[in-house]
Amino acid sequence: MPRNVPAVSNVNPAIATWTGPLGLPDFSSIDDRDFETAFAVALPAHLAEIDAIASNPEEPTFKNTISALELAGDLLTKASAIFWNMAGANTNDTVQKLERKLSPELSRHHSAIMMNRALFSRIDALDQQRKSLGLDAEADRVLELTWKSFVRSGANLNETDQIQLAAINERLATLGTTFSQNILAEERDYALVLETSEDMAGLPDTLISSMSVAAGERGHRGKHAVTLSRSIIEPFLTFSERRDLRETAFKAWVGRGEGTGERDNRPLVIEMVRLRAEKAALLGYDSFAHYKLDDTMAKTPENVRSLLGTVWEKARGRAAMEAAELSQLIAAEGLNHDVAPWDWRHYSEKTRAARYDFNEAEIRPYLQLEKMIDAAFHTAETLFGITFRKHDDVCSYHPDVRVFEVLDATGRRIAIFLGDYFARPSKRSGAWMSAFQDQHKLATGSNGKSQTPIVLNVMNFAKAPAGEPILITMDDARTLFHEFGHALHGMLSDVTYPSISGTSVSRDFVELPSQLFEHWLTVPEVLQRFAVHHRTGEAIPQTLLDKMGAAEKFNKGFANVKFISSAIVDMAFHSLDPEHAANVDPMAFQADVLARLRMPAAIVMRHATPNFGHVFSGDGYSAGYYSYMWSGVLDADAFQAFKEAGDPFDTAIARKLQRYIYSSGGSMDPEDAYIAFRGKLPSPDALLEKEGLA
Ligand SMILES: [Zn+2]
Repeated sequence: MPRNVPAVSNVNPAIATWTGPLGLPDFSSIDDRDFETAFAVALPAHLAEIDAIASNPEEPTFKNTISALELAGDLLTKASAIFWNMAGANTNDTVQKLERKLSPELSRHHSAIMMNRALFSRIDALDQQRKSLGLDAEADRVLELTWKSFVRSGANLNETDQIQLAAINERLATLGTTFSQNILAEERDYALVLETSEDMAGLPDTLISSMSVAAGERGHRGKHAVTLSRSIIEPFLTFSERRDLRETAFKAWVGRGEGTGERDNRPLVIEMVRLRAEKAALLGYDSFAHYKLDDTMAKTPENVRSLLGTVWEKARGRAAMEAAELSQLIAAEGLNHDVAPWDWRHYSEKTRAARYDFNEAEIRPYLQLEKMIDAAFHTAETLFGITFRKHDDVCSYHPDVRVFEVLDATGRRIAIFLGDYFARPSKRSGAWMSAFQDQHKLATGSNGKSQTPIVLNVMNFAKAPAGEPILITMDDARTLFHEFGHALHGMLSDVTYPSISGTSVSRDFVELPSQLFEHWLTVPEVLQRFAVHHRTGEAIPQTLLDKMGAAEKFNKGFANVKFISSAIVDMAFHSLDPEHAANVDPMAFQADVLARLRMPAAIVMRHATPNFGHVFSGDGYSAGYYSYMWSGVLDADAFQAFKEAGDPFDTAIARKLQRYIYSSGGSMDPEDAYIAFRGKLPSPDALLEKEGLA
């Protein structure tokens, strides 16, 4: 009997059994300190269940092995769902400390299961007779995917290699957590404090008031602070007339992760790149990129490079034209300097305002957060026949969180949706979708009844003073639609097995439902109905929509160069063999890749290596940053189907979209799913058209 394992009776029952309204956990009776005990019980309990499956004296069957595996670890699933949602949306020191402790522990736990020989031999035996088991298509795919994921996790390796792989995974988990906590700490601590009115030249009032709040929070009351949060640094670089301050702030922003001592992320990158290369070699792949891409839609690094290369040359050409225009404007102001990276946003905004007679501030009075949330609901209702019923009486983990019941056309509850829209100090920056509970039908037996998905959208909008409406930017509205698209992917899921539910799809397919949903934001019917002036209630004028439409393809060279260069550097790091990876100098390597690309001097990568969180704060988008563009090819082509039909809400196309894309989870191969929806695979043409690069 292992020591120090708390008894099940010590686990707060509110974590194990969700008794709150609408099937939510009863958050009011959960304390942050309860999680440590819950995990201490849940991990060994899960392992005991796994051992029971592995040592079952009966012959392996799909039910006693695969289905049993799918359902194992209920307490761990529940505790993890609550804990990791809190870690992102409502954190504190207790939660952060446990996060650091848990990441290597969970890695060890995962390795112990995936490298369990007795368990794998049952899965392997089933896989060998897969075609004669009489499985339906979905079960057949779950067996195939399970087998693959065990092999990809080292189930087939000899014991020495397994021990080495487990050690690599554990070390990578710790390095990833340290990488992201370093960036968070730098973002929290940095402030460029502005003292005089000359320092604020050019800044709009809305920015000045958020800079005043930021200064107050950092102990500089009465002053103004430029911080590294995107909502402050981006508008500062855009509007500040002070070139010297723009340069200082810009260098601090792109230099995140290059700090000294413990906060320097560069040594972590070297170690991670080497460990990933070693991991891929252990598993028999040429490089980590080959390993990562093997189970994606793109399949090989060559396919990724081919797409990125096609768009890169066009984007670079466009960026050169944009830079020439900015130079002219600088000269016209009587200045005599090249376009530097800290000049780009500033002069491109001036160019845009002049050329299209349009600026963001004109649209803002028409974009009320509440109306834009309604617009996203309305779009989903029209496309998919679902409705949203708000429950004001239901409180979840924070008073600001709104709770909705989602009903299908027959009035049946299909999901619970939580909208957590406002920024607060306990919340990570950014916007994301996550879930407390995934849809599946396995636990409910053969009656076809689903476990109800409980899905969240978490955002960081600033609250307005009492009595005033919350106005957002077009970018914010796009983010709202994007995350709601992910939410729909989770809520409309209609599969049997948990492991392929909702967003559990290939990384380069998962941005399709989200990026596709963004297209409906700018559909005229939607804007005319929901983009209404907060004071007069008047719909957004057509002239303003026209100007906005005309300006849409502006500055796309810049945006694509930033994105693609990051994606290519990500691929380059993860294409190294272990020997080269061990000797890599991250900054010199990055510079070398960019030089070979002939990166424009006035543009920098969207994410410099030491702060490239997508790639280094976890495994998520490593050798995978390209995914946004891969999904971009799909979403541009997918929306084209509605354009061709001449109706953005065409019923027949919407029905196919729901069936094959939003509801099918990972039950189909993504290529097959796309072809079932669209009749063919896409070419990059629609993407190039959308980006104005055709
Ligand atoms: Zn997304």
